[in-house]
Amino acid sequence: MYSEIEALAEGLTEKLMGIRRDFHKFAESGWFEMRTASLIARRLTEMGFEVLAGSDVCLAESRMGLPDEDELEEHYARAKEQGADPQFLPRIKGGFTGVLGILRCGEGPTVALRFDIDALGVNEDKTADHRPFKEGFSSVNPGMMHACGHDGHAAIGLGVAEVLMAVKDELRGTVKIIFQPAEEGVRGAKSIVDKGHLDGVDYVLACHITGRSTQEDRVSDTTAGCGGSLATSKMDALFYGKSAHAGGSPEDGRNALAAAGTALQNLLAIPRNSASDTRVNVGTLQGGSGRNVIPEFAKMELEVRGKTTAGNIYMEQWAQRIIKASAEMHDCTYEVKKMGEAFLMESDLPLMERIAKVCRENLKTVRIHPQLRRESTGSEDFSYMMKRVQDQGGQASMLRILTDTAAVAHNSRFDFNDRDALPKAVKVLSAVVYDILSEGPVKN
Ligand SMILES: [Zn+2]
Repeated sequence: MYSEIEALAEGLTEKLMGIRRDFHKFAESGWFEMRTASLIARRLTEMGFEVLAGSDVCLAESRMGLPDEDELEEHYARAKEQGADPQFLPRIKGGFTGVLGILRCGEGPTVALRFDIDALGVNEDKTADHRPFKEGFSSVNPGMMHACGHDGHAAIGLGVAEVLMAVKDELRGTVKIIFQPAEEGVRGAKSIVDKGHLDGVDYVLACHITGRSTQEDRVSDTTAGCGGSLATSKMDALFYGKSAHAGGSPEDGRNALAAAGTALQNLLAIPRNSASDTRVNVGTLQGGSGRNVIPEFAKMELEVRGKTTAGNIYMEQWAQRIIKASAEMHDCTYEVKKMGEAFLMESDLPLMERIAKVCRENLKTVRIHPQLRRESTGSEDFSYMMKRVQDQGGQASMLRILTDTAAVAHNSRFDFNDRDALPKAVKVLSAVVYDILSEGPVKN
């Protein structure tokens, strides 16, 4: 069966490259993935999956960092023009861009797979030696680019769906293939978890396309798992004051920008924590309306991170207190909006060992990295799904699909070897799901 899975995945190479390049060309950033999601839902339906889309996938009030209605409306019109699926598009309207494909194969464990589908707010490089530009599939949407490989992840998800559908008679259990919006800014996963789609899931897997950086990477195709990512909270702090003439009656004003400035200084002075590595950044600060007017409004975008979830909570509590106290000091009011959140991400050892064993013993064309766990930098909201499954006693892992990349992730010249990475990822994930579901119901 494993060689059949490898052959099926291999046979999908050209098709998956086509899908990846189409998604790349029509890049859509977080909560705008309307064309992308509608086409995924269409393909899953054609394959025979039970398909959920729109508000059946994402809980409305748990969608963090949702763009405003006008922008969502604008992108809806553009998605329509750019060839979105007319049947699914209306269900995805208003930033409900998650899709879930379910394959039920009788009694047995439930395995969920998560693929993120959003692009980044980056303008893609348009020089001749940037392959997507040279080969005519660079982003046509200004300020949006697949610079983190999520176009590839979406294609891999569809590839895994096709392979598992082809071998479904050999499976005993349930497969849930989750296509998640808005991973960038760690905004999307929570809405899917809060909707309950990870409840009762025994295993959850995800993958990320990653450039090779070490000698061991160069002779490996995948790592079984990873760990050590940073827990993080992304927040917008809004300060509300009162405008007044700066010369005539400054005492009547309440200076929102002064409150924000006070907060800025003190956020960067949060005491270090001996129990956890931490980070804090104020990325933007805007406010005021004119030289001679006491500023009535200021907005700050900030984030904190921690090497442990407790370390992140420590940072967030300090940040909340500083923002509150700074607003009070200048007699302003304030509001803190949570724009994104992720936990520490740690793959489970037994699952990593199982993945490594499947690659080593059953797959002829996938080389497993000698180190099971890759240290992660940055943050990843798949950690939300992992936590839900791990809290229920299930197992989770985030694999790294190693391939050659043209630049570091989030760079305007990012590109990866899709001919290499896509079939490889489909092989590993399909084989691991087969390994789990060919056993049938767990015997206790
Ligand atoms: Zn990414």
